[in-house]
Amino acid sequence: MMIPNLHYKELETSYLFTRIAEKTAAYLAAHPGQRLLHLGIGDVSLPLCGAVIRALHEAVDDQGNKDRFQGYQPECGAPFLREAIAAHYRDRGIVLSPEEVFVSSGASDELGDLLDLFDRSNTALVLEPAYPAYVDANVMSGRTLRRLSAGRESGFLPMPDKGVCADLIYLCSPNNPTGAVFDRPGLQRWVDFANENGSILLFDAAYEAFVQAPGIPRSIFELEGARTCAIEICSLSKTAGFTGTRLGYTVIPGELNRCGMNLREMWVRNRTTKTNGVSYILQRGAAAVFTPEGQEQIQESLSVYRKNARVLMGALDSLGIWYCGGRNAPYLWLACPDGMDSWTFFDRLLTEIQVVGTPGVGFGAEGEGYFRLSSFGDPADTEEAARRLVTLFTGRSAT
Ligand code: PLP
Repeated sequence: MMIPNLHYKELETSYLFTRIAEKTAAYLAAHPGQRLLHLGIGDVSLPLCGAVIRALHEAVDDQGNKDRFQGYQPECGAPFLREAIAAHYRDRGIVLSPEEVFVSSGASDELGDLLDLFDRSNTALVLEPAYPAYVDANVMSGRTLRRLSAGRESGFLPMPDKGVCADLIYLCSPNNPTGAVFDRPGLQRWVDFANENGSILLFDAAYEAFVQAPGIPRSIFELEGARTCAIEICSLSKTAGFTGTRLGYTVIPGELNRCGMNLREMWVRNRTTKTNGVSYILQRGAAAVFTPEGQEQIQESLSVYRKNARVLMGALDSLGIWYCGGRNAPYLWLACPDGMDSWTFFDRLLTEIQVVGTPGVGFGAEGEGYFRLSSFGDPADTEEAARRLVTLFTGRSAT
């Protein structure tokens, strides 16, 4: 008899987004005509920039032209895009060879697929609250999970200590859901820890484009020693509005060896077996992001999201509500006022001011009592939501 992967039974049912959808649908059914202000989504609200759209159109035309038509692309990524990404790192002082860059269909796909490189007996560490995919991908493959509490006392940025022991360590900075961002010394401690213990850091840099402050690393490879212990997973989803277009990239340095095996070479073997490459059209669109014109244009959207974050921070500051994130990050993570739990706060915002956010407890038990607001929403809705938030908790309007 065929036996399915029994580890799927161990997955906790994720009620978070279904429960949010059910509650908002029930509220709208009971209050027809009401409009909700969405600050819960992790999706972007602005379209692709002009440089990308032009490149996509040109690439579509190539596919209809006998002389320019492109068939299968190299499994690890088209050379023009791997080179453009390596040059983008080089502009920031990080030297990579294009062969260390792998083009993917997005960070989610990659975060799951990369686990093929590691034995199932390895333990995986997540800093909780955490992006749920880290947990579920490891449970599905039968790996033992360890959780390290990232509480308010550490600003949701815990440091490794002697009690920490794991083969694979997930780090996400700027963080989803907390918006917390590691500074250089903090991240260096994790790199040093990984090198001392032979662990591998899986560094999720999906939100790196939001970092502006000097001294905050955008890439793990800005840190000394990272090339012998880290893999970086990146995405154009939030950087350039590719959530529905799909493209990401992963960096595996040539020095990453374990048990006499080279992880970069193993990943080449994996990709050449398990994929036939990412669409030529999308890779051309992605390459446009790394041109000077593309870089300038994506900043226009990023600055809209940054302004949304400032509007939300202004409201929380005026209410004296504790939060982290919002600076160098698109998410704000706030302590629910008056000791409310995450879902009670969710219900109050929904029913009293028609604002939808994300209950922190949905990102793990450590998130109870916290709430995530996203700056990816519509600017006018974000301003209105901030005004209503202030009115709700003070009875006065925000200036
Ligand atoms: N990593 C984090 C921390 C995310 O928040 C997301 C998406 O929200 C992803 C990865 C997935 O990105 P992609 O759209 O490239 O699959």
